[in-house]
Amino acid sequence: DRVSLVLSSKVCVSKEGTVAHYGMLATDEIEEGEVLFTIPRSALLHQGTSKVSAVLEKEKSSLESSSGWVPLLLALLYEYTSPQSHWRPYLSLWTDFKTLDLPMFWPTEERDALLRGTGISEAVNRDLANIRREYMDVVLPFITKHPHLWSPDTHTLGLYMQLVAFVMAYSFQEPQEGEDDDEEEAASPPMMVPMADMLNHVSNHNANLEFTPDCLKMVSVRPIQKGEEVFNTYGEMANWQLLHMYGFTEPYRSNSNDTADIPVANLYRVATQGIQSDLDRQLMEEQWEVLCEMMQDKAAFVFGKQGCLTDTELHTVLKVLCMSKEEFSEFKENEGWEEDDEDEDKISLVFSNEGLPGLKASWKWLIHEAARLTVRSYGDDEGKTEGEGSDWALNDQATLAGLNSRQQNALQVRCGQKTILYRLMELTK
Ligand code: SAM
Repeated sequence: DRVSLVLSSKVCVSKEGTVAHYGMLATDEIEEGEVLFTIPRSALLHQGTSKVSAVLEKEKSSLESSSGWVPLLLALLYEYTSPQSHWRPYLSLWTDFKTLDLPMFWPTEERDALLRGTGISEAVNRDLANIRREYMDVVLPFITKHPHLWSPDTHTLGLYMQLVAFVMAYSFQEPQEGEDDDEEEAASPPMMVPMADMLNHVSNHNANLEFTPDCLKMVSVRPIQKGEEVFNTYGEMANWQLLHMYGFTEPYRSNSNDTADIPVANLYRVATQGIQSDLDRQLMEEQWEVLCEMMQDKAAFVFGKQGCLTDTELHTVLKVLCMSKEEFSEFKENEGWEEDDEDEDKISLVFSNEGLPGLKASWKWLIHEAARLTVRSYGDDEGKTEGEGSDWALNDQATLAGLNSRQQNALQVRCGQKTILYRLMELTK
């Protein structure tokens, strides 16, 4: 009430009857489109609403970093450790962040062993290097310069890492206008949204946060029964992303947003396998060089439950790798294809689960073998052979019951990814 947050009488925050700690429950029948709560922008915690906002604004040029998170983290370091903080009632919900069992806090050996092949260990290693670098290069010099507000003894790298995890798992980002445009805009900085961050996530969510100029509103997107949990969406998240950033997974069969990656390099390895002559090898190397330039930092093809999500890139790579010497010379002379040559809708259909079996044999073989190579990178023997079909793992709850929560989450990620890869192999046999 004090900060003018308006909560509908049809919902409550609870620790019971939710999937994980706090969550929101419906205490009455809710229709689609009902506002469940409204948060004025003044009740959001970010660099502009913190007590230290003036110094953060004045010296913002020294706080730039690749993540763009440093100003919010400095505000949180200050508010979290200040007994008089206006945000005390909110921040005191977390006396520590122990419940946040993100893979970044797992011992390295455990992380590498449990998450091999999933891509999470590599993502965490990049995060840890970035976090350390940002703390040492940006945060530490800044807090040392402002000893009346921060101190390296209190605001340690350890606390900083916990707050990074808090931001990862609890913050929101203002959606950007025209997000689909090709123009790359800098992402909006993260902010903390009290009450909205009490909601848990499922892919089949029933509520959604709307951003307006004055306030943020949680609105139901379908009817919710009395007693049901109110679920927000954190975005279209594959299980590996959920585990990486939030420390949990959905049962892999019910996560409609699950994906598996095939590294571009695996497709290239497969393509080079059968090459006999030096001339062919040289052609392939040239093709690969051109592709690397075209793909820039895209290192993997992403496959979802309905087909390839990076279809344009996959199409390009397959076309170039399967070109004859003459076709490739012509392609280079033209500096690519004519713009209207490719119809995006048609490509997405061609690389959907429905379209894949109809691809030409050479393309199917490349995809099939690249998927097989990717499956091998998990280095385990779950599922044994590809012939066992797509629903080969986790058929009984007993398998899960014997595992700790890290093992369970890792298994959900692996099973989801491998199911997608085996399905792809079936479709491209
Ligand atoms: N449950 C949180 C709490 O008690 O503070 C509130 C949601 S917070 C934004 C996000 C965290 O909630 C995640 O990092 C994860 O620990 C948990 N969470 C959210 N959705 C979940 C789900 N479907 N299953 C398990 N845990 C979930």
